[in-house]
Amino acid sequence: MSNPNGFDPSATRRELLAGAIAGAAALALPRGTYAAEFHRFTHGAFDITVVSDGFITLPAEVLLPDATPEERRSILERLGGDAAGAPIQANIPLIRHGSDLILIDNGSGTHFQASAGKLAANLKAAGIEPEAITKVIFTHAHPDHSGATTVADGKLLYPNAQYFVSETEWNFWTDKDYEAHMPSALHDFARGAQRDLFAVKDKLTLVKPGQEILPGMQVIETSGHTPGHISFELAGDGNLLITGDACTNDVIFFEHPAWHFGFDTDPETALKNRRMLLDRAASEKIKLLGYHWSYPGVGYAERKGEAYRFAKA
Ligand SMILES: [Zn+2]
Repeated sequence: MSNPNGFDPSATRRELLAGAIAGAAALALPRGTYAAEFHRFTHGAFDITVVSDGFITLPAEVLLPDATPEERRSILERLGGDAAGAPIQANIPLIRHGSDLILIDNGSGTHFQASAGKLAANLKAAGIEPEAITKVIFTHAHPDHSGATTVADGKLLYPNAQYFVSETEWNFWTDKDYEAHMPSALHDFARGAQRDLFAVKDKLTLVKPGQEILPGMQVIETSGHTPGHISFELAGDGNLLITGDACTNDVIFFEHPAWHFGFDTDPETALKNRRMLLDRAASEKIKLLGYHWSYPGVGYAERKGEAYRFAKA
């Protein structure tokens, strides 16, 4: 299936993207020298490049459980999908801050869908070796966000990084008795989270909402998608909020903020926090960066009646 909103998996497009990234010479060039599809901007002390991990495809009933059949058909078509489901992007912010080179989430690696897991290759094309990454900060421990923590032999893909995850997320997923305590639908997620989090437990810092990870980067409470899901607010000229899966898709949840998402662990908390996030973003004109939004996923929430419109930055 093709996706008019962003990443096209065809070889031609991939080569174009790789060429554009390589041509940009390892992030040393000033803003504006990249091809349009390779999005880079500065925000306060942060230099941010959105690097694609590819895309994942989700079933219609996960993306749109509350939609009528007509709404479902129309939205799936707009997302570039078909009746069964639709592809959604995976946008990973690579942040340069002082001597740090930071990833917010590391994508799917080899542990989810083959259409994702492209982050390391795209970084390499930009001249960035995995060893150069100094921090990997997780929004949450789902396999499309922390799945690239290890490679096939169990070694760390980003061996020199410090890792960060919320304390609540760690406590929830690392429960040794997860099979007794969690519904069976979460067991695969728990096994994946344990694989990724235990692999870095000696390099892991547990954080809480309200805490600063770096000067100007604050942890924001956005639980519900998972119990310990967090977002990150970056100080600059007007703030920037990196939202992970607090609002899983721009097309669906900006226009229908009262709808549930099928992969939210606690759907009502997720919905409440999503609405608070969109309300605040619209009121305060906060710039947003969303993980599964049309690449690069950077823009604003503008009010439109009871809902919102995604306005690309
Ligand atoms: Zn996700």
